[in-house]
Amino acid sequence: MGTLPVVARVAPHFGEEPCISGKRGSGTVFFSGCTMHCVYCQNYEISVKNHGVTLTPQELAEAYKMLEKSGVHNINLVTADHFVEAVAESLHIYHPHLPVIYNCSGYTSPKTLSILDGLVDVYLPDFKYSNNKLAEKLSHAPHYVETALAAIGEMLLQAGHLRYDKEGMIQKGVIVRHLILPAHTKQSIAALDMLQRTFGNEILVSLMCQYVPWGEVRHDPKLGRKLTRREYDKVKSALSSLHIDGFTQDLSAANATYIPNWDFELF
Ligand code: SF4
Repeated sequence: MGTLPVVARVAPHFGEEPCISGKRGSGTVFFSGCTMHCVYCQNYEISVKNHGVTLTPQELAEAYKMLEKSGVHNINLVTADHFVEAVAESLHIYHPHLPVIYNCSGYTSPKTLSILDGLVDVYLPDFKYSNNKLAEKLSHAPHYVETALAAIGEMLLQAGHLRYDKEGMIQKGVIVRHLILPAHTKQSIAALDMLQRTFGNEILVSLMCQYVPWGEVRHDPKLGRKLTRREYDKVKSALSSLHIDGFTQDLSAANATYIPNWDFELF
């Protein structure tokens, strides 16, 4: 990717956690491209094919203003790591009067994140794997575990303790997402255990079961199916016994409705 942001969609989004989407939606900006390359990526059209429209930092700042005017609860920057300098510039041009959420894979460095210090209120990273070999195999992401844990540590330093407004909408803090993959419950439980041991109750964890097989992975013996109820219950029960606060999805979330329509709608 070049240095100017390529954007696939700018629009209110209602599929995030309740304290992010609320009643009026989250003001999302979906960036094209990604620092990871997951074989099961459901956003393949934008993460790998890089479809989208190139915007300048000034145009990005205008997009925040439009979203803000629509009444959304926050501005939610999705998968922007590879455009971080232009994104920081856009936030210097116009900083919304709403919480700024940085929604990312977690596969980034504290040095990259330092560019956003003071500009982001809420971090929403993934923590996908407890096992580096699996991360290399499924996401082409070497040294994943130590990289993501260091990144989440930096996010916590910047965003601090969890804070909400009177409506229960998040204003500050870190929510870590973990997507459970079919036939990989042990690695999910180990990932939750790592998060608990490293960050205790300083973070919230959002446990996701919305995986649906996509593209080539539909023919994979392990990843070619949805999660079973039994698998999901096993990981949910581990989350509960680790006393981690956060969110769980309903298993009915495992359908394609969570995948935005990549129509390059720029609001
Ligand atoms: S981190 Fe998310 S957006 Fe990036 S390739 Fe993996 S699943 Fe797709």
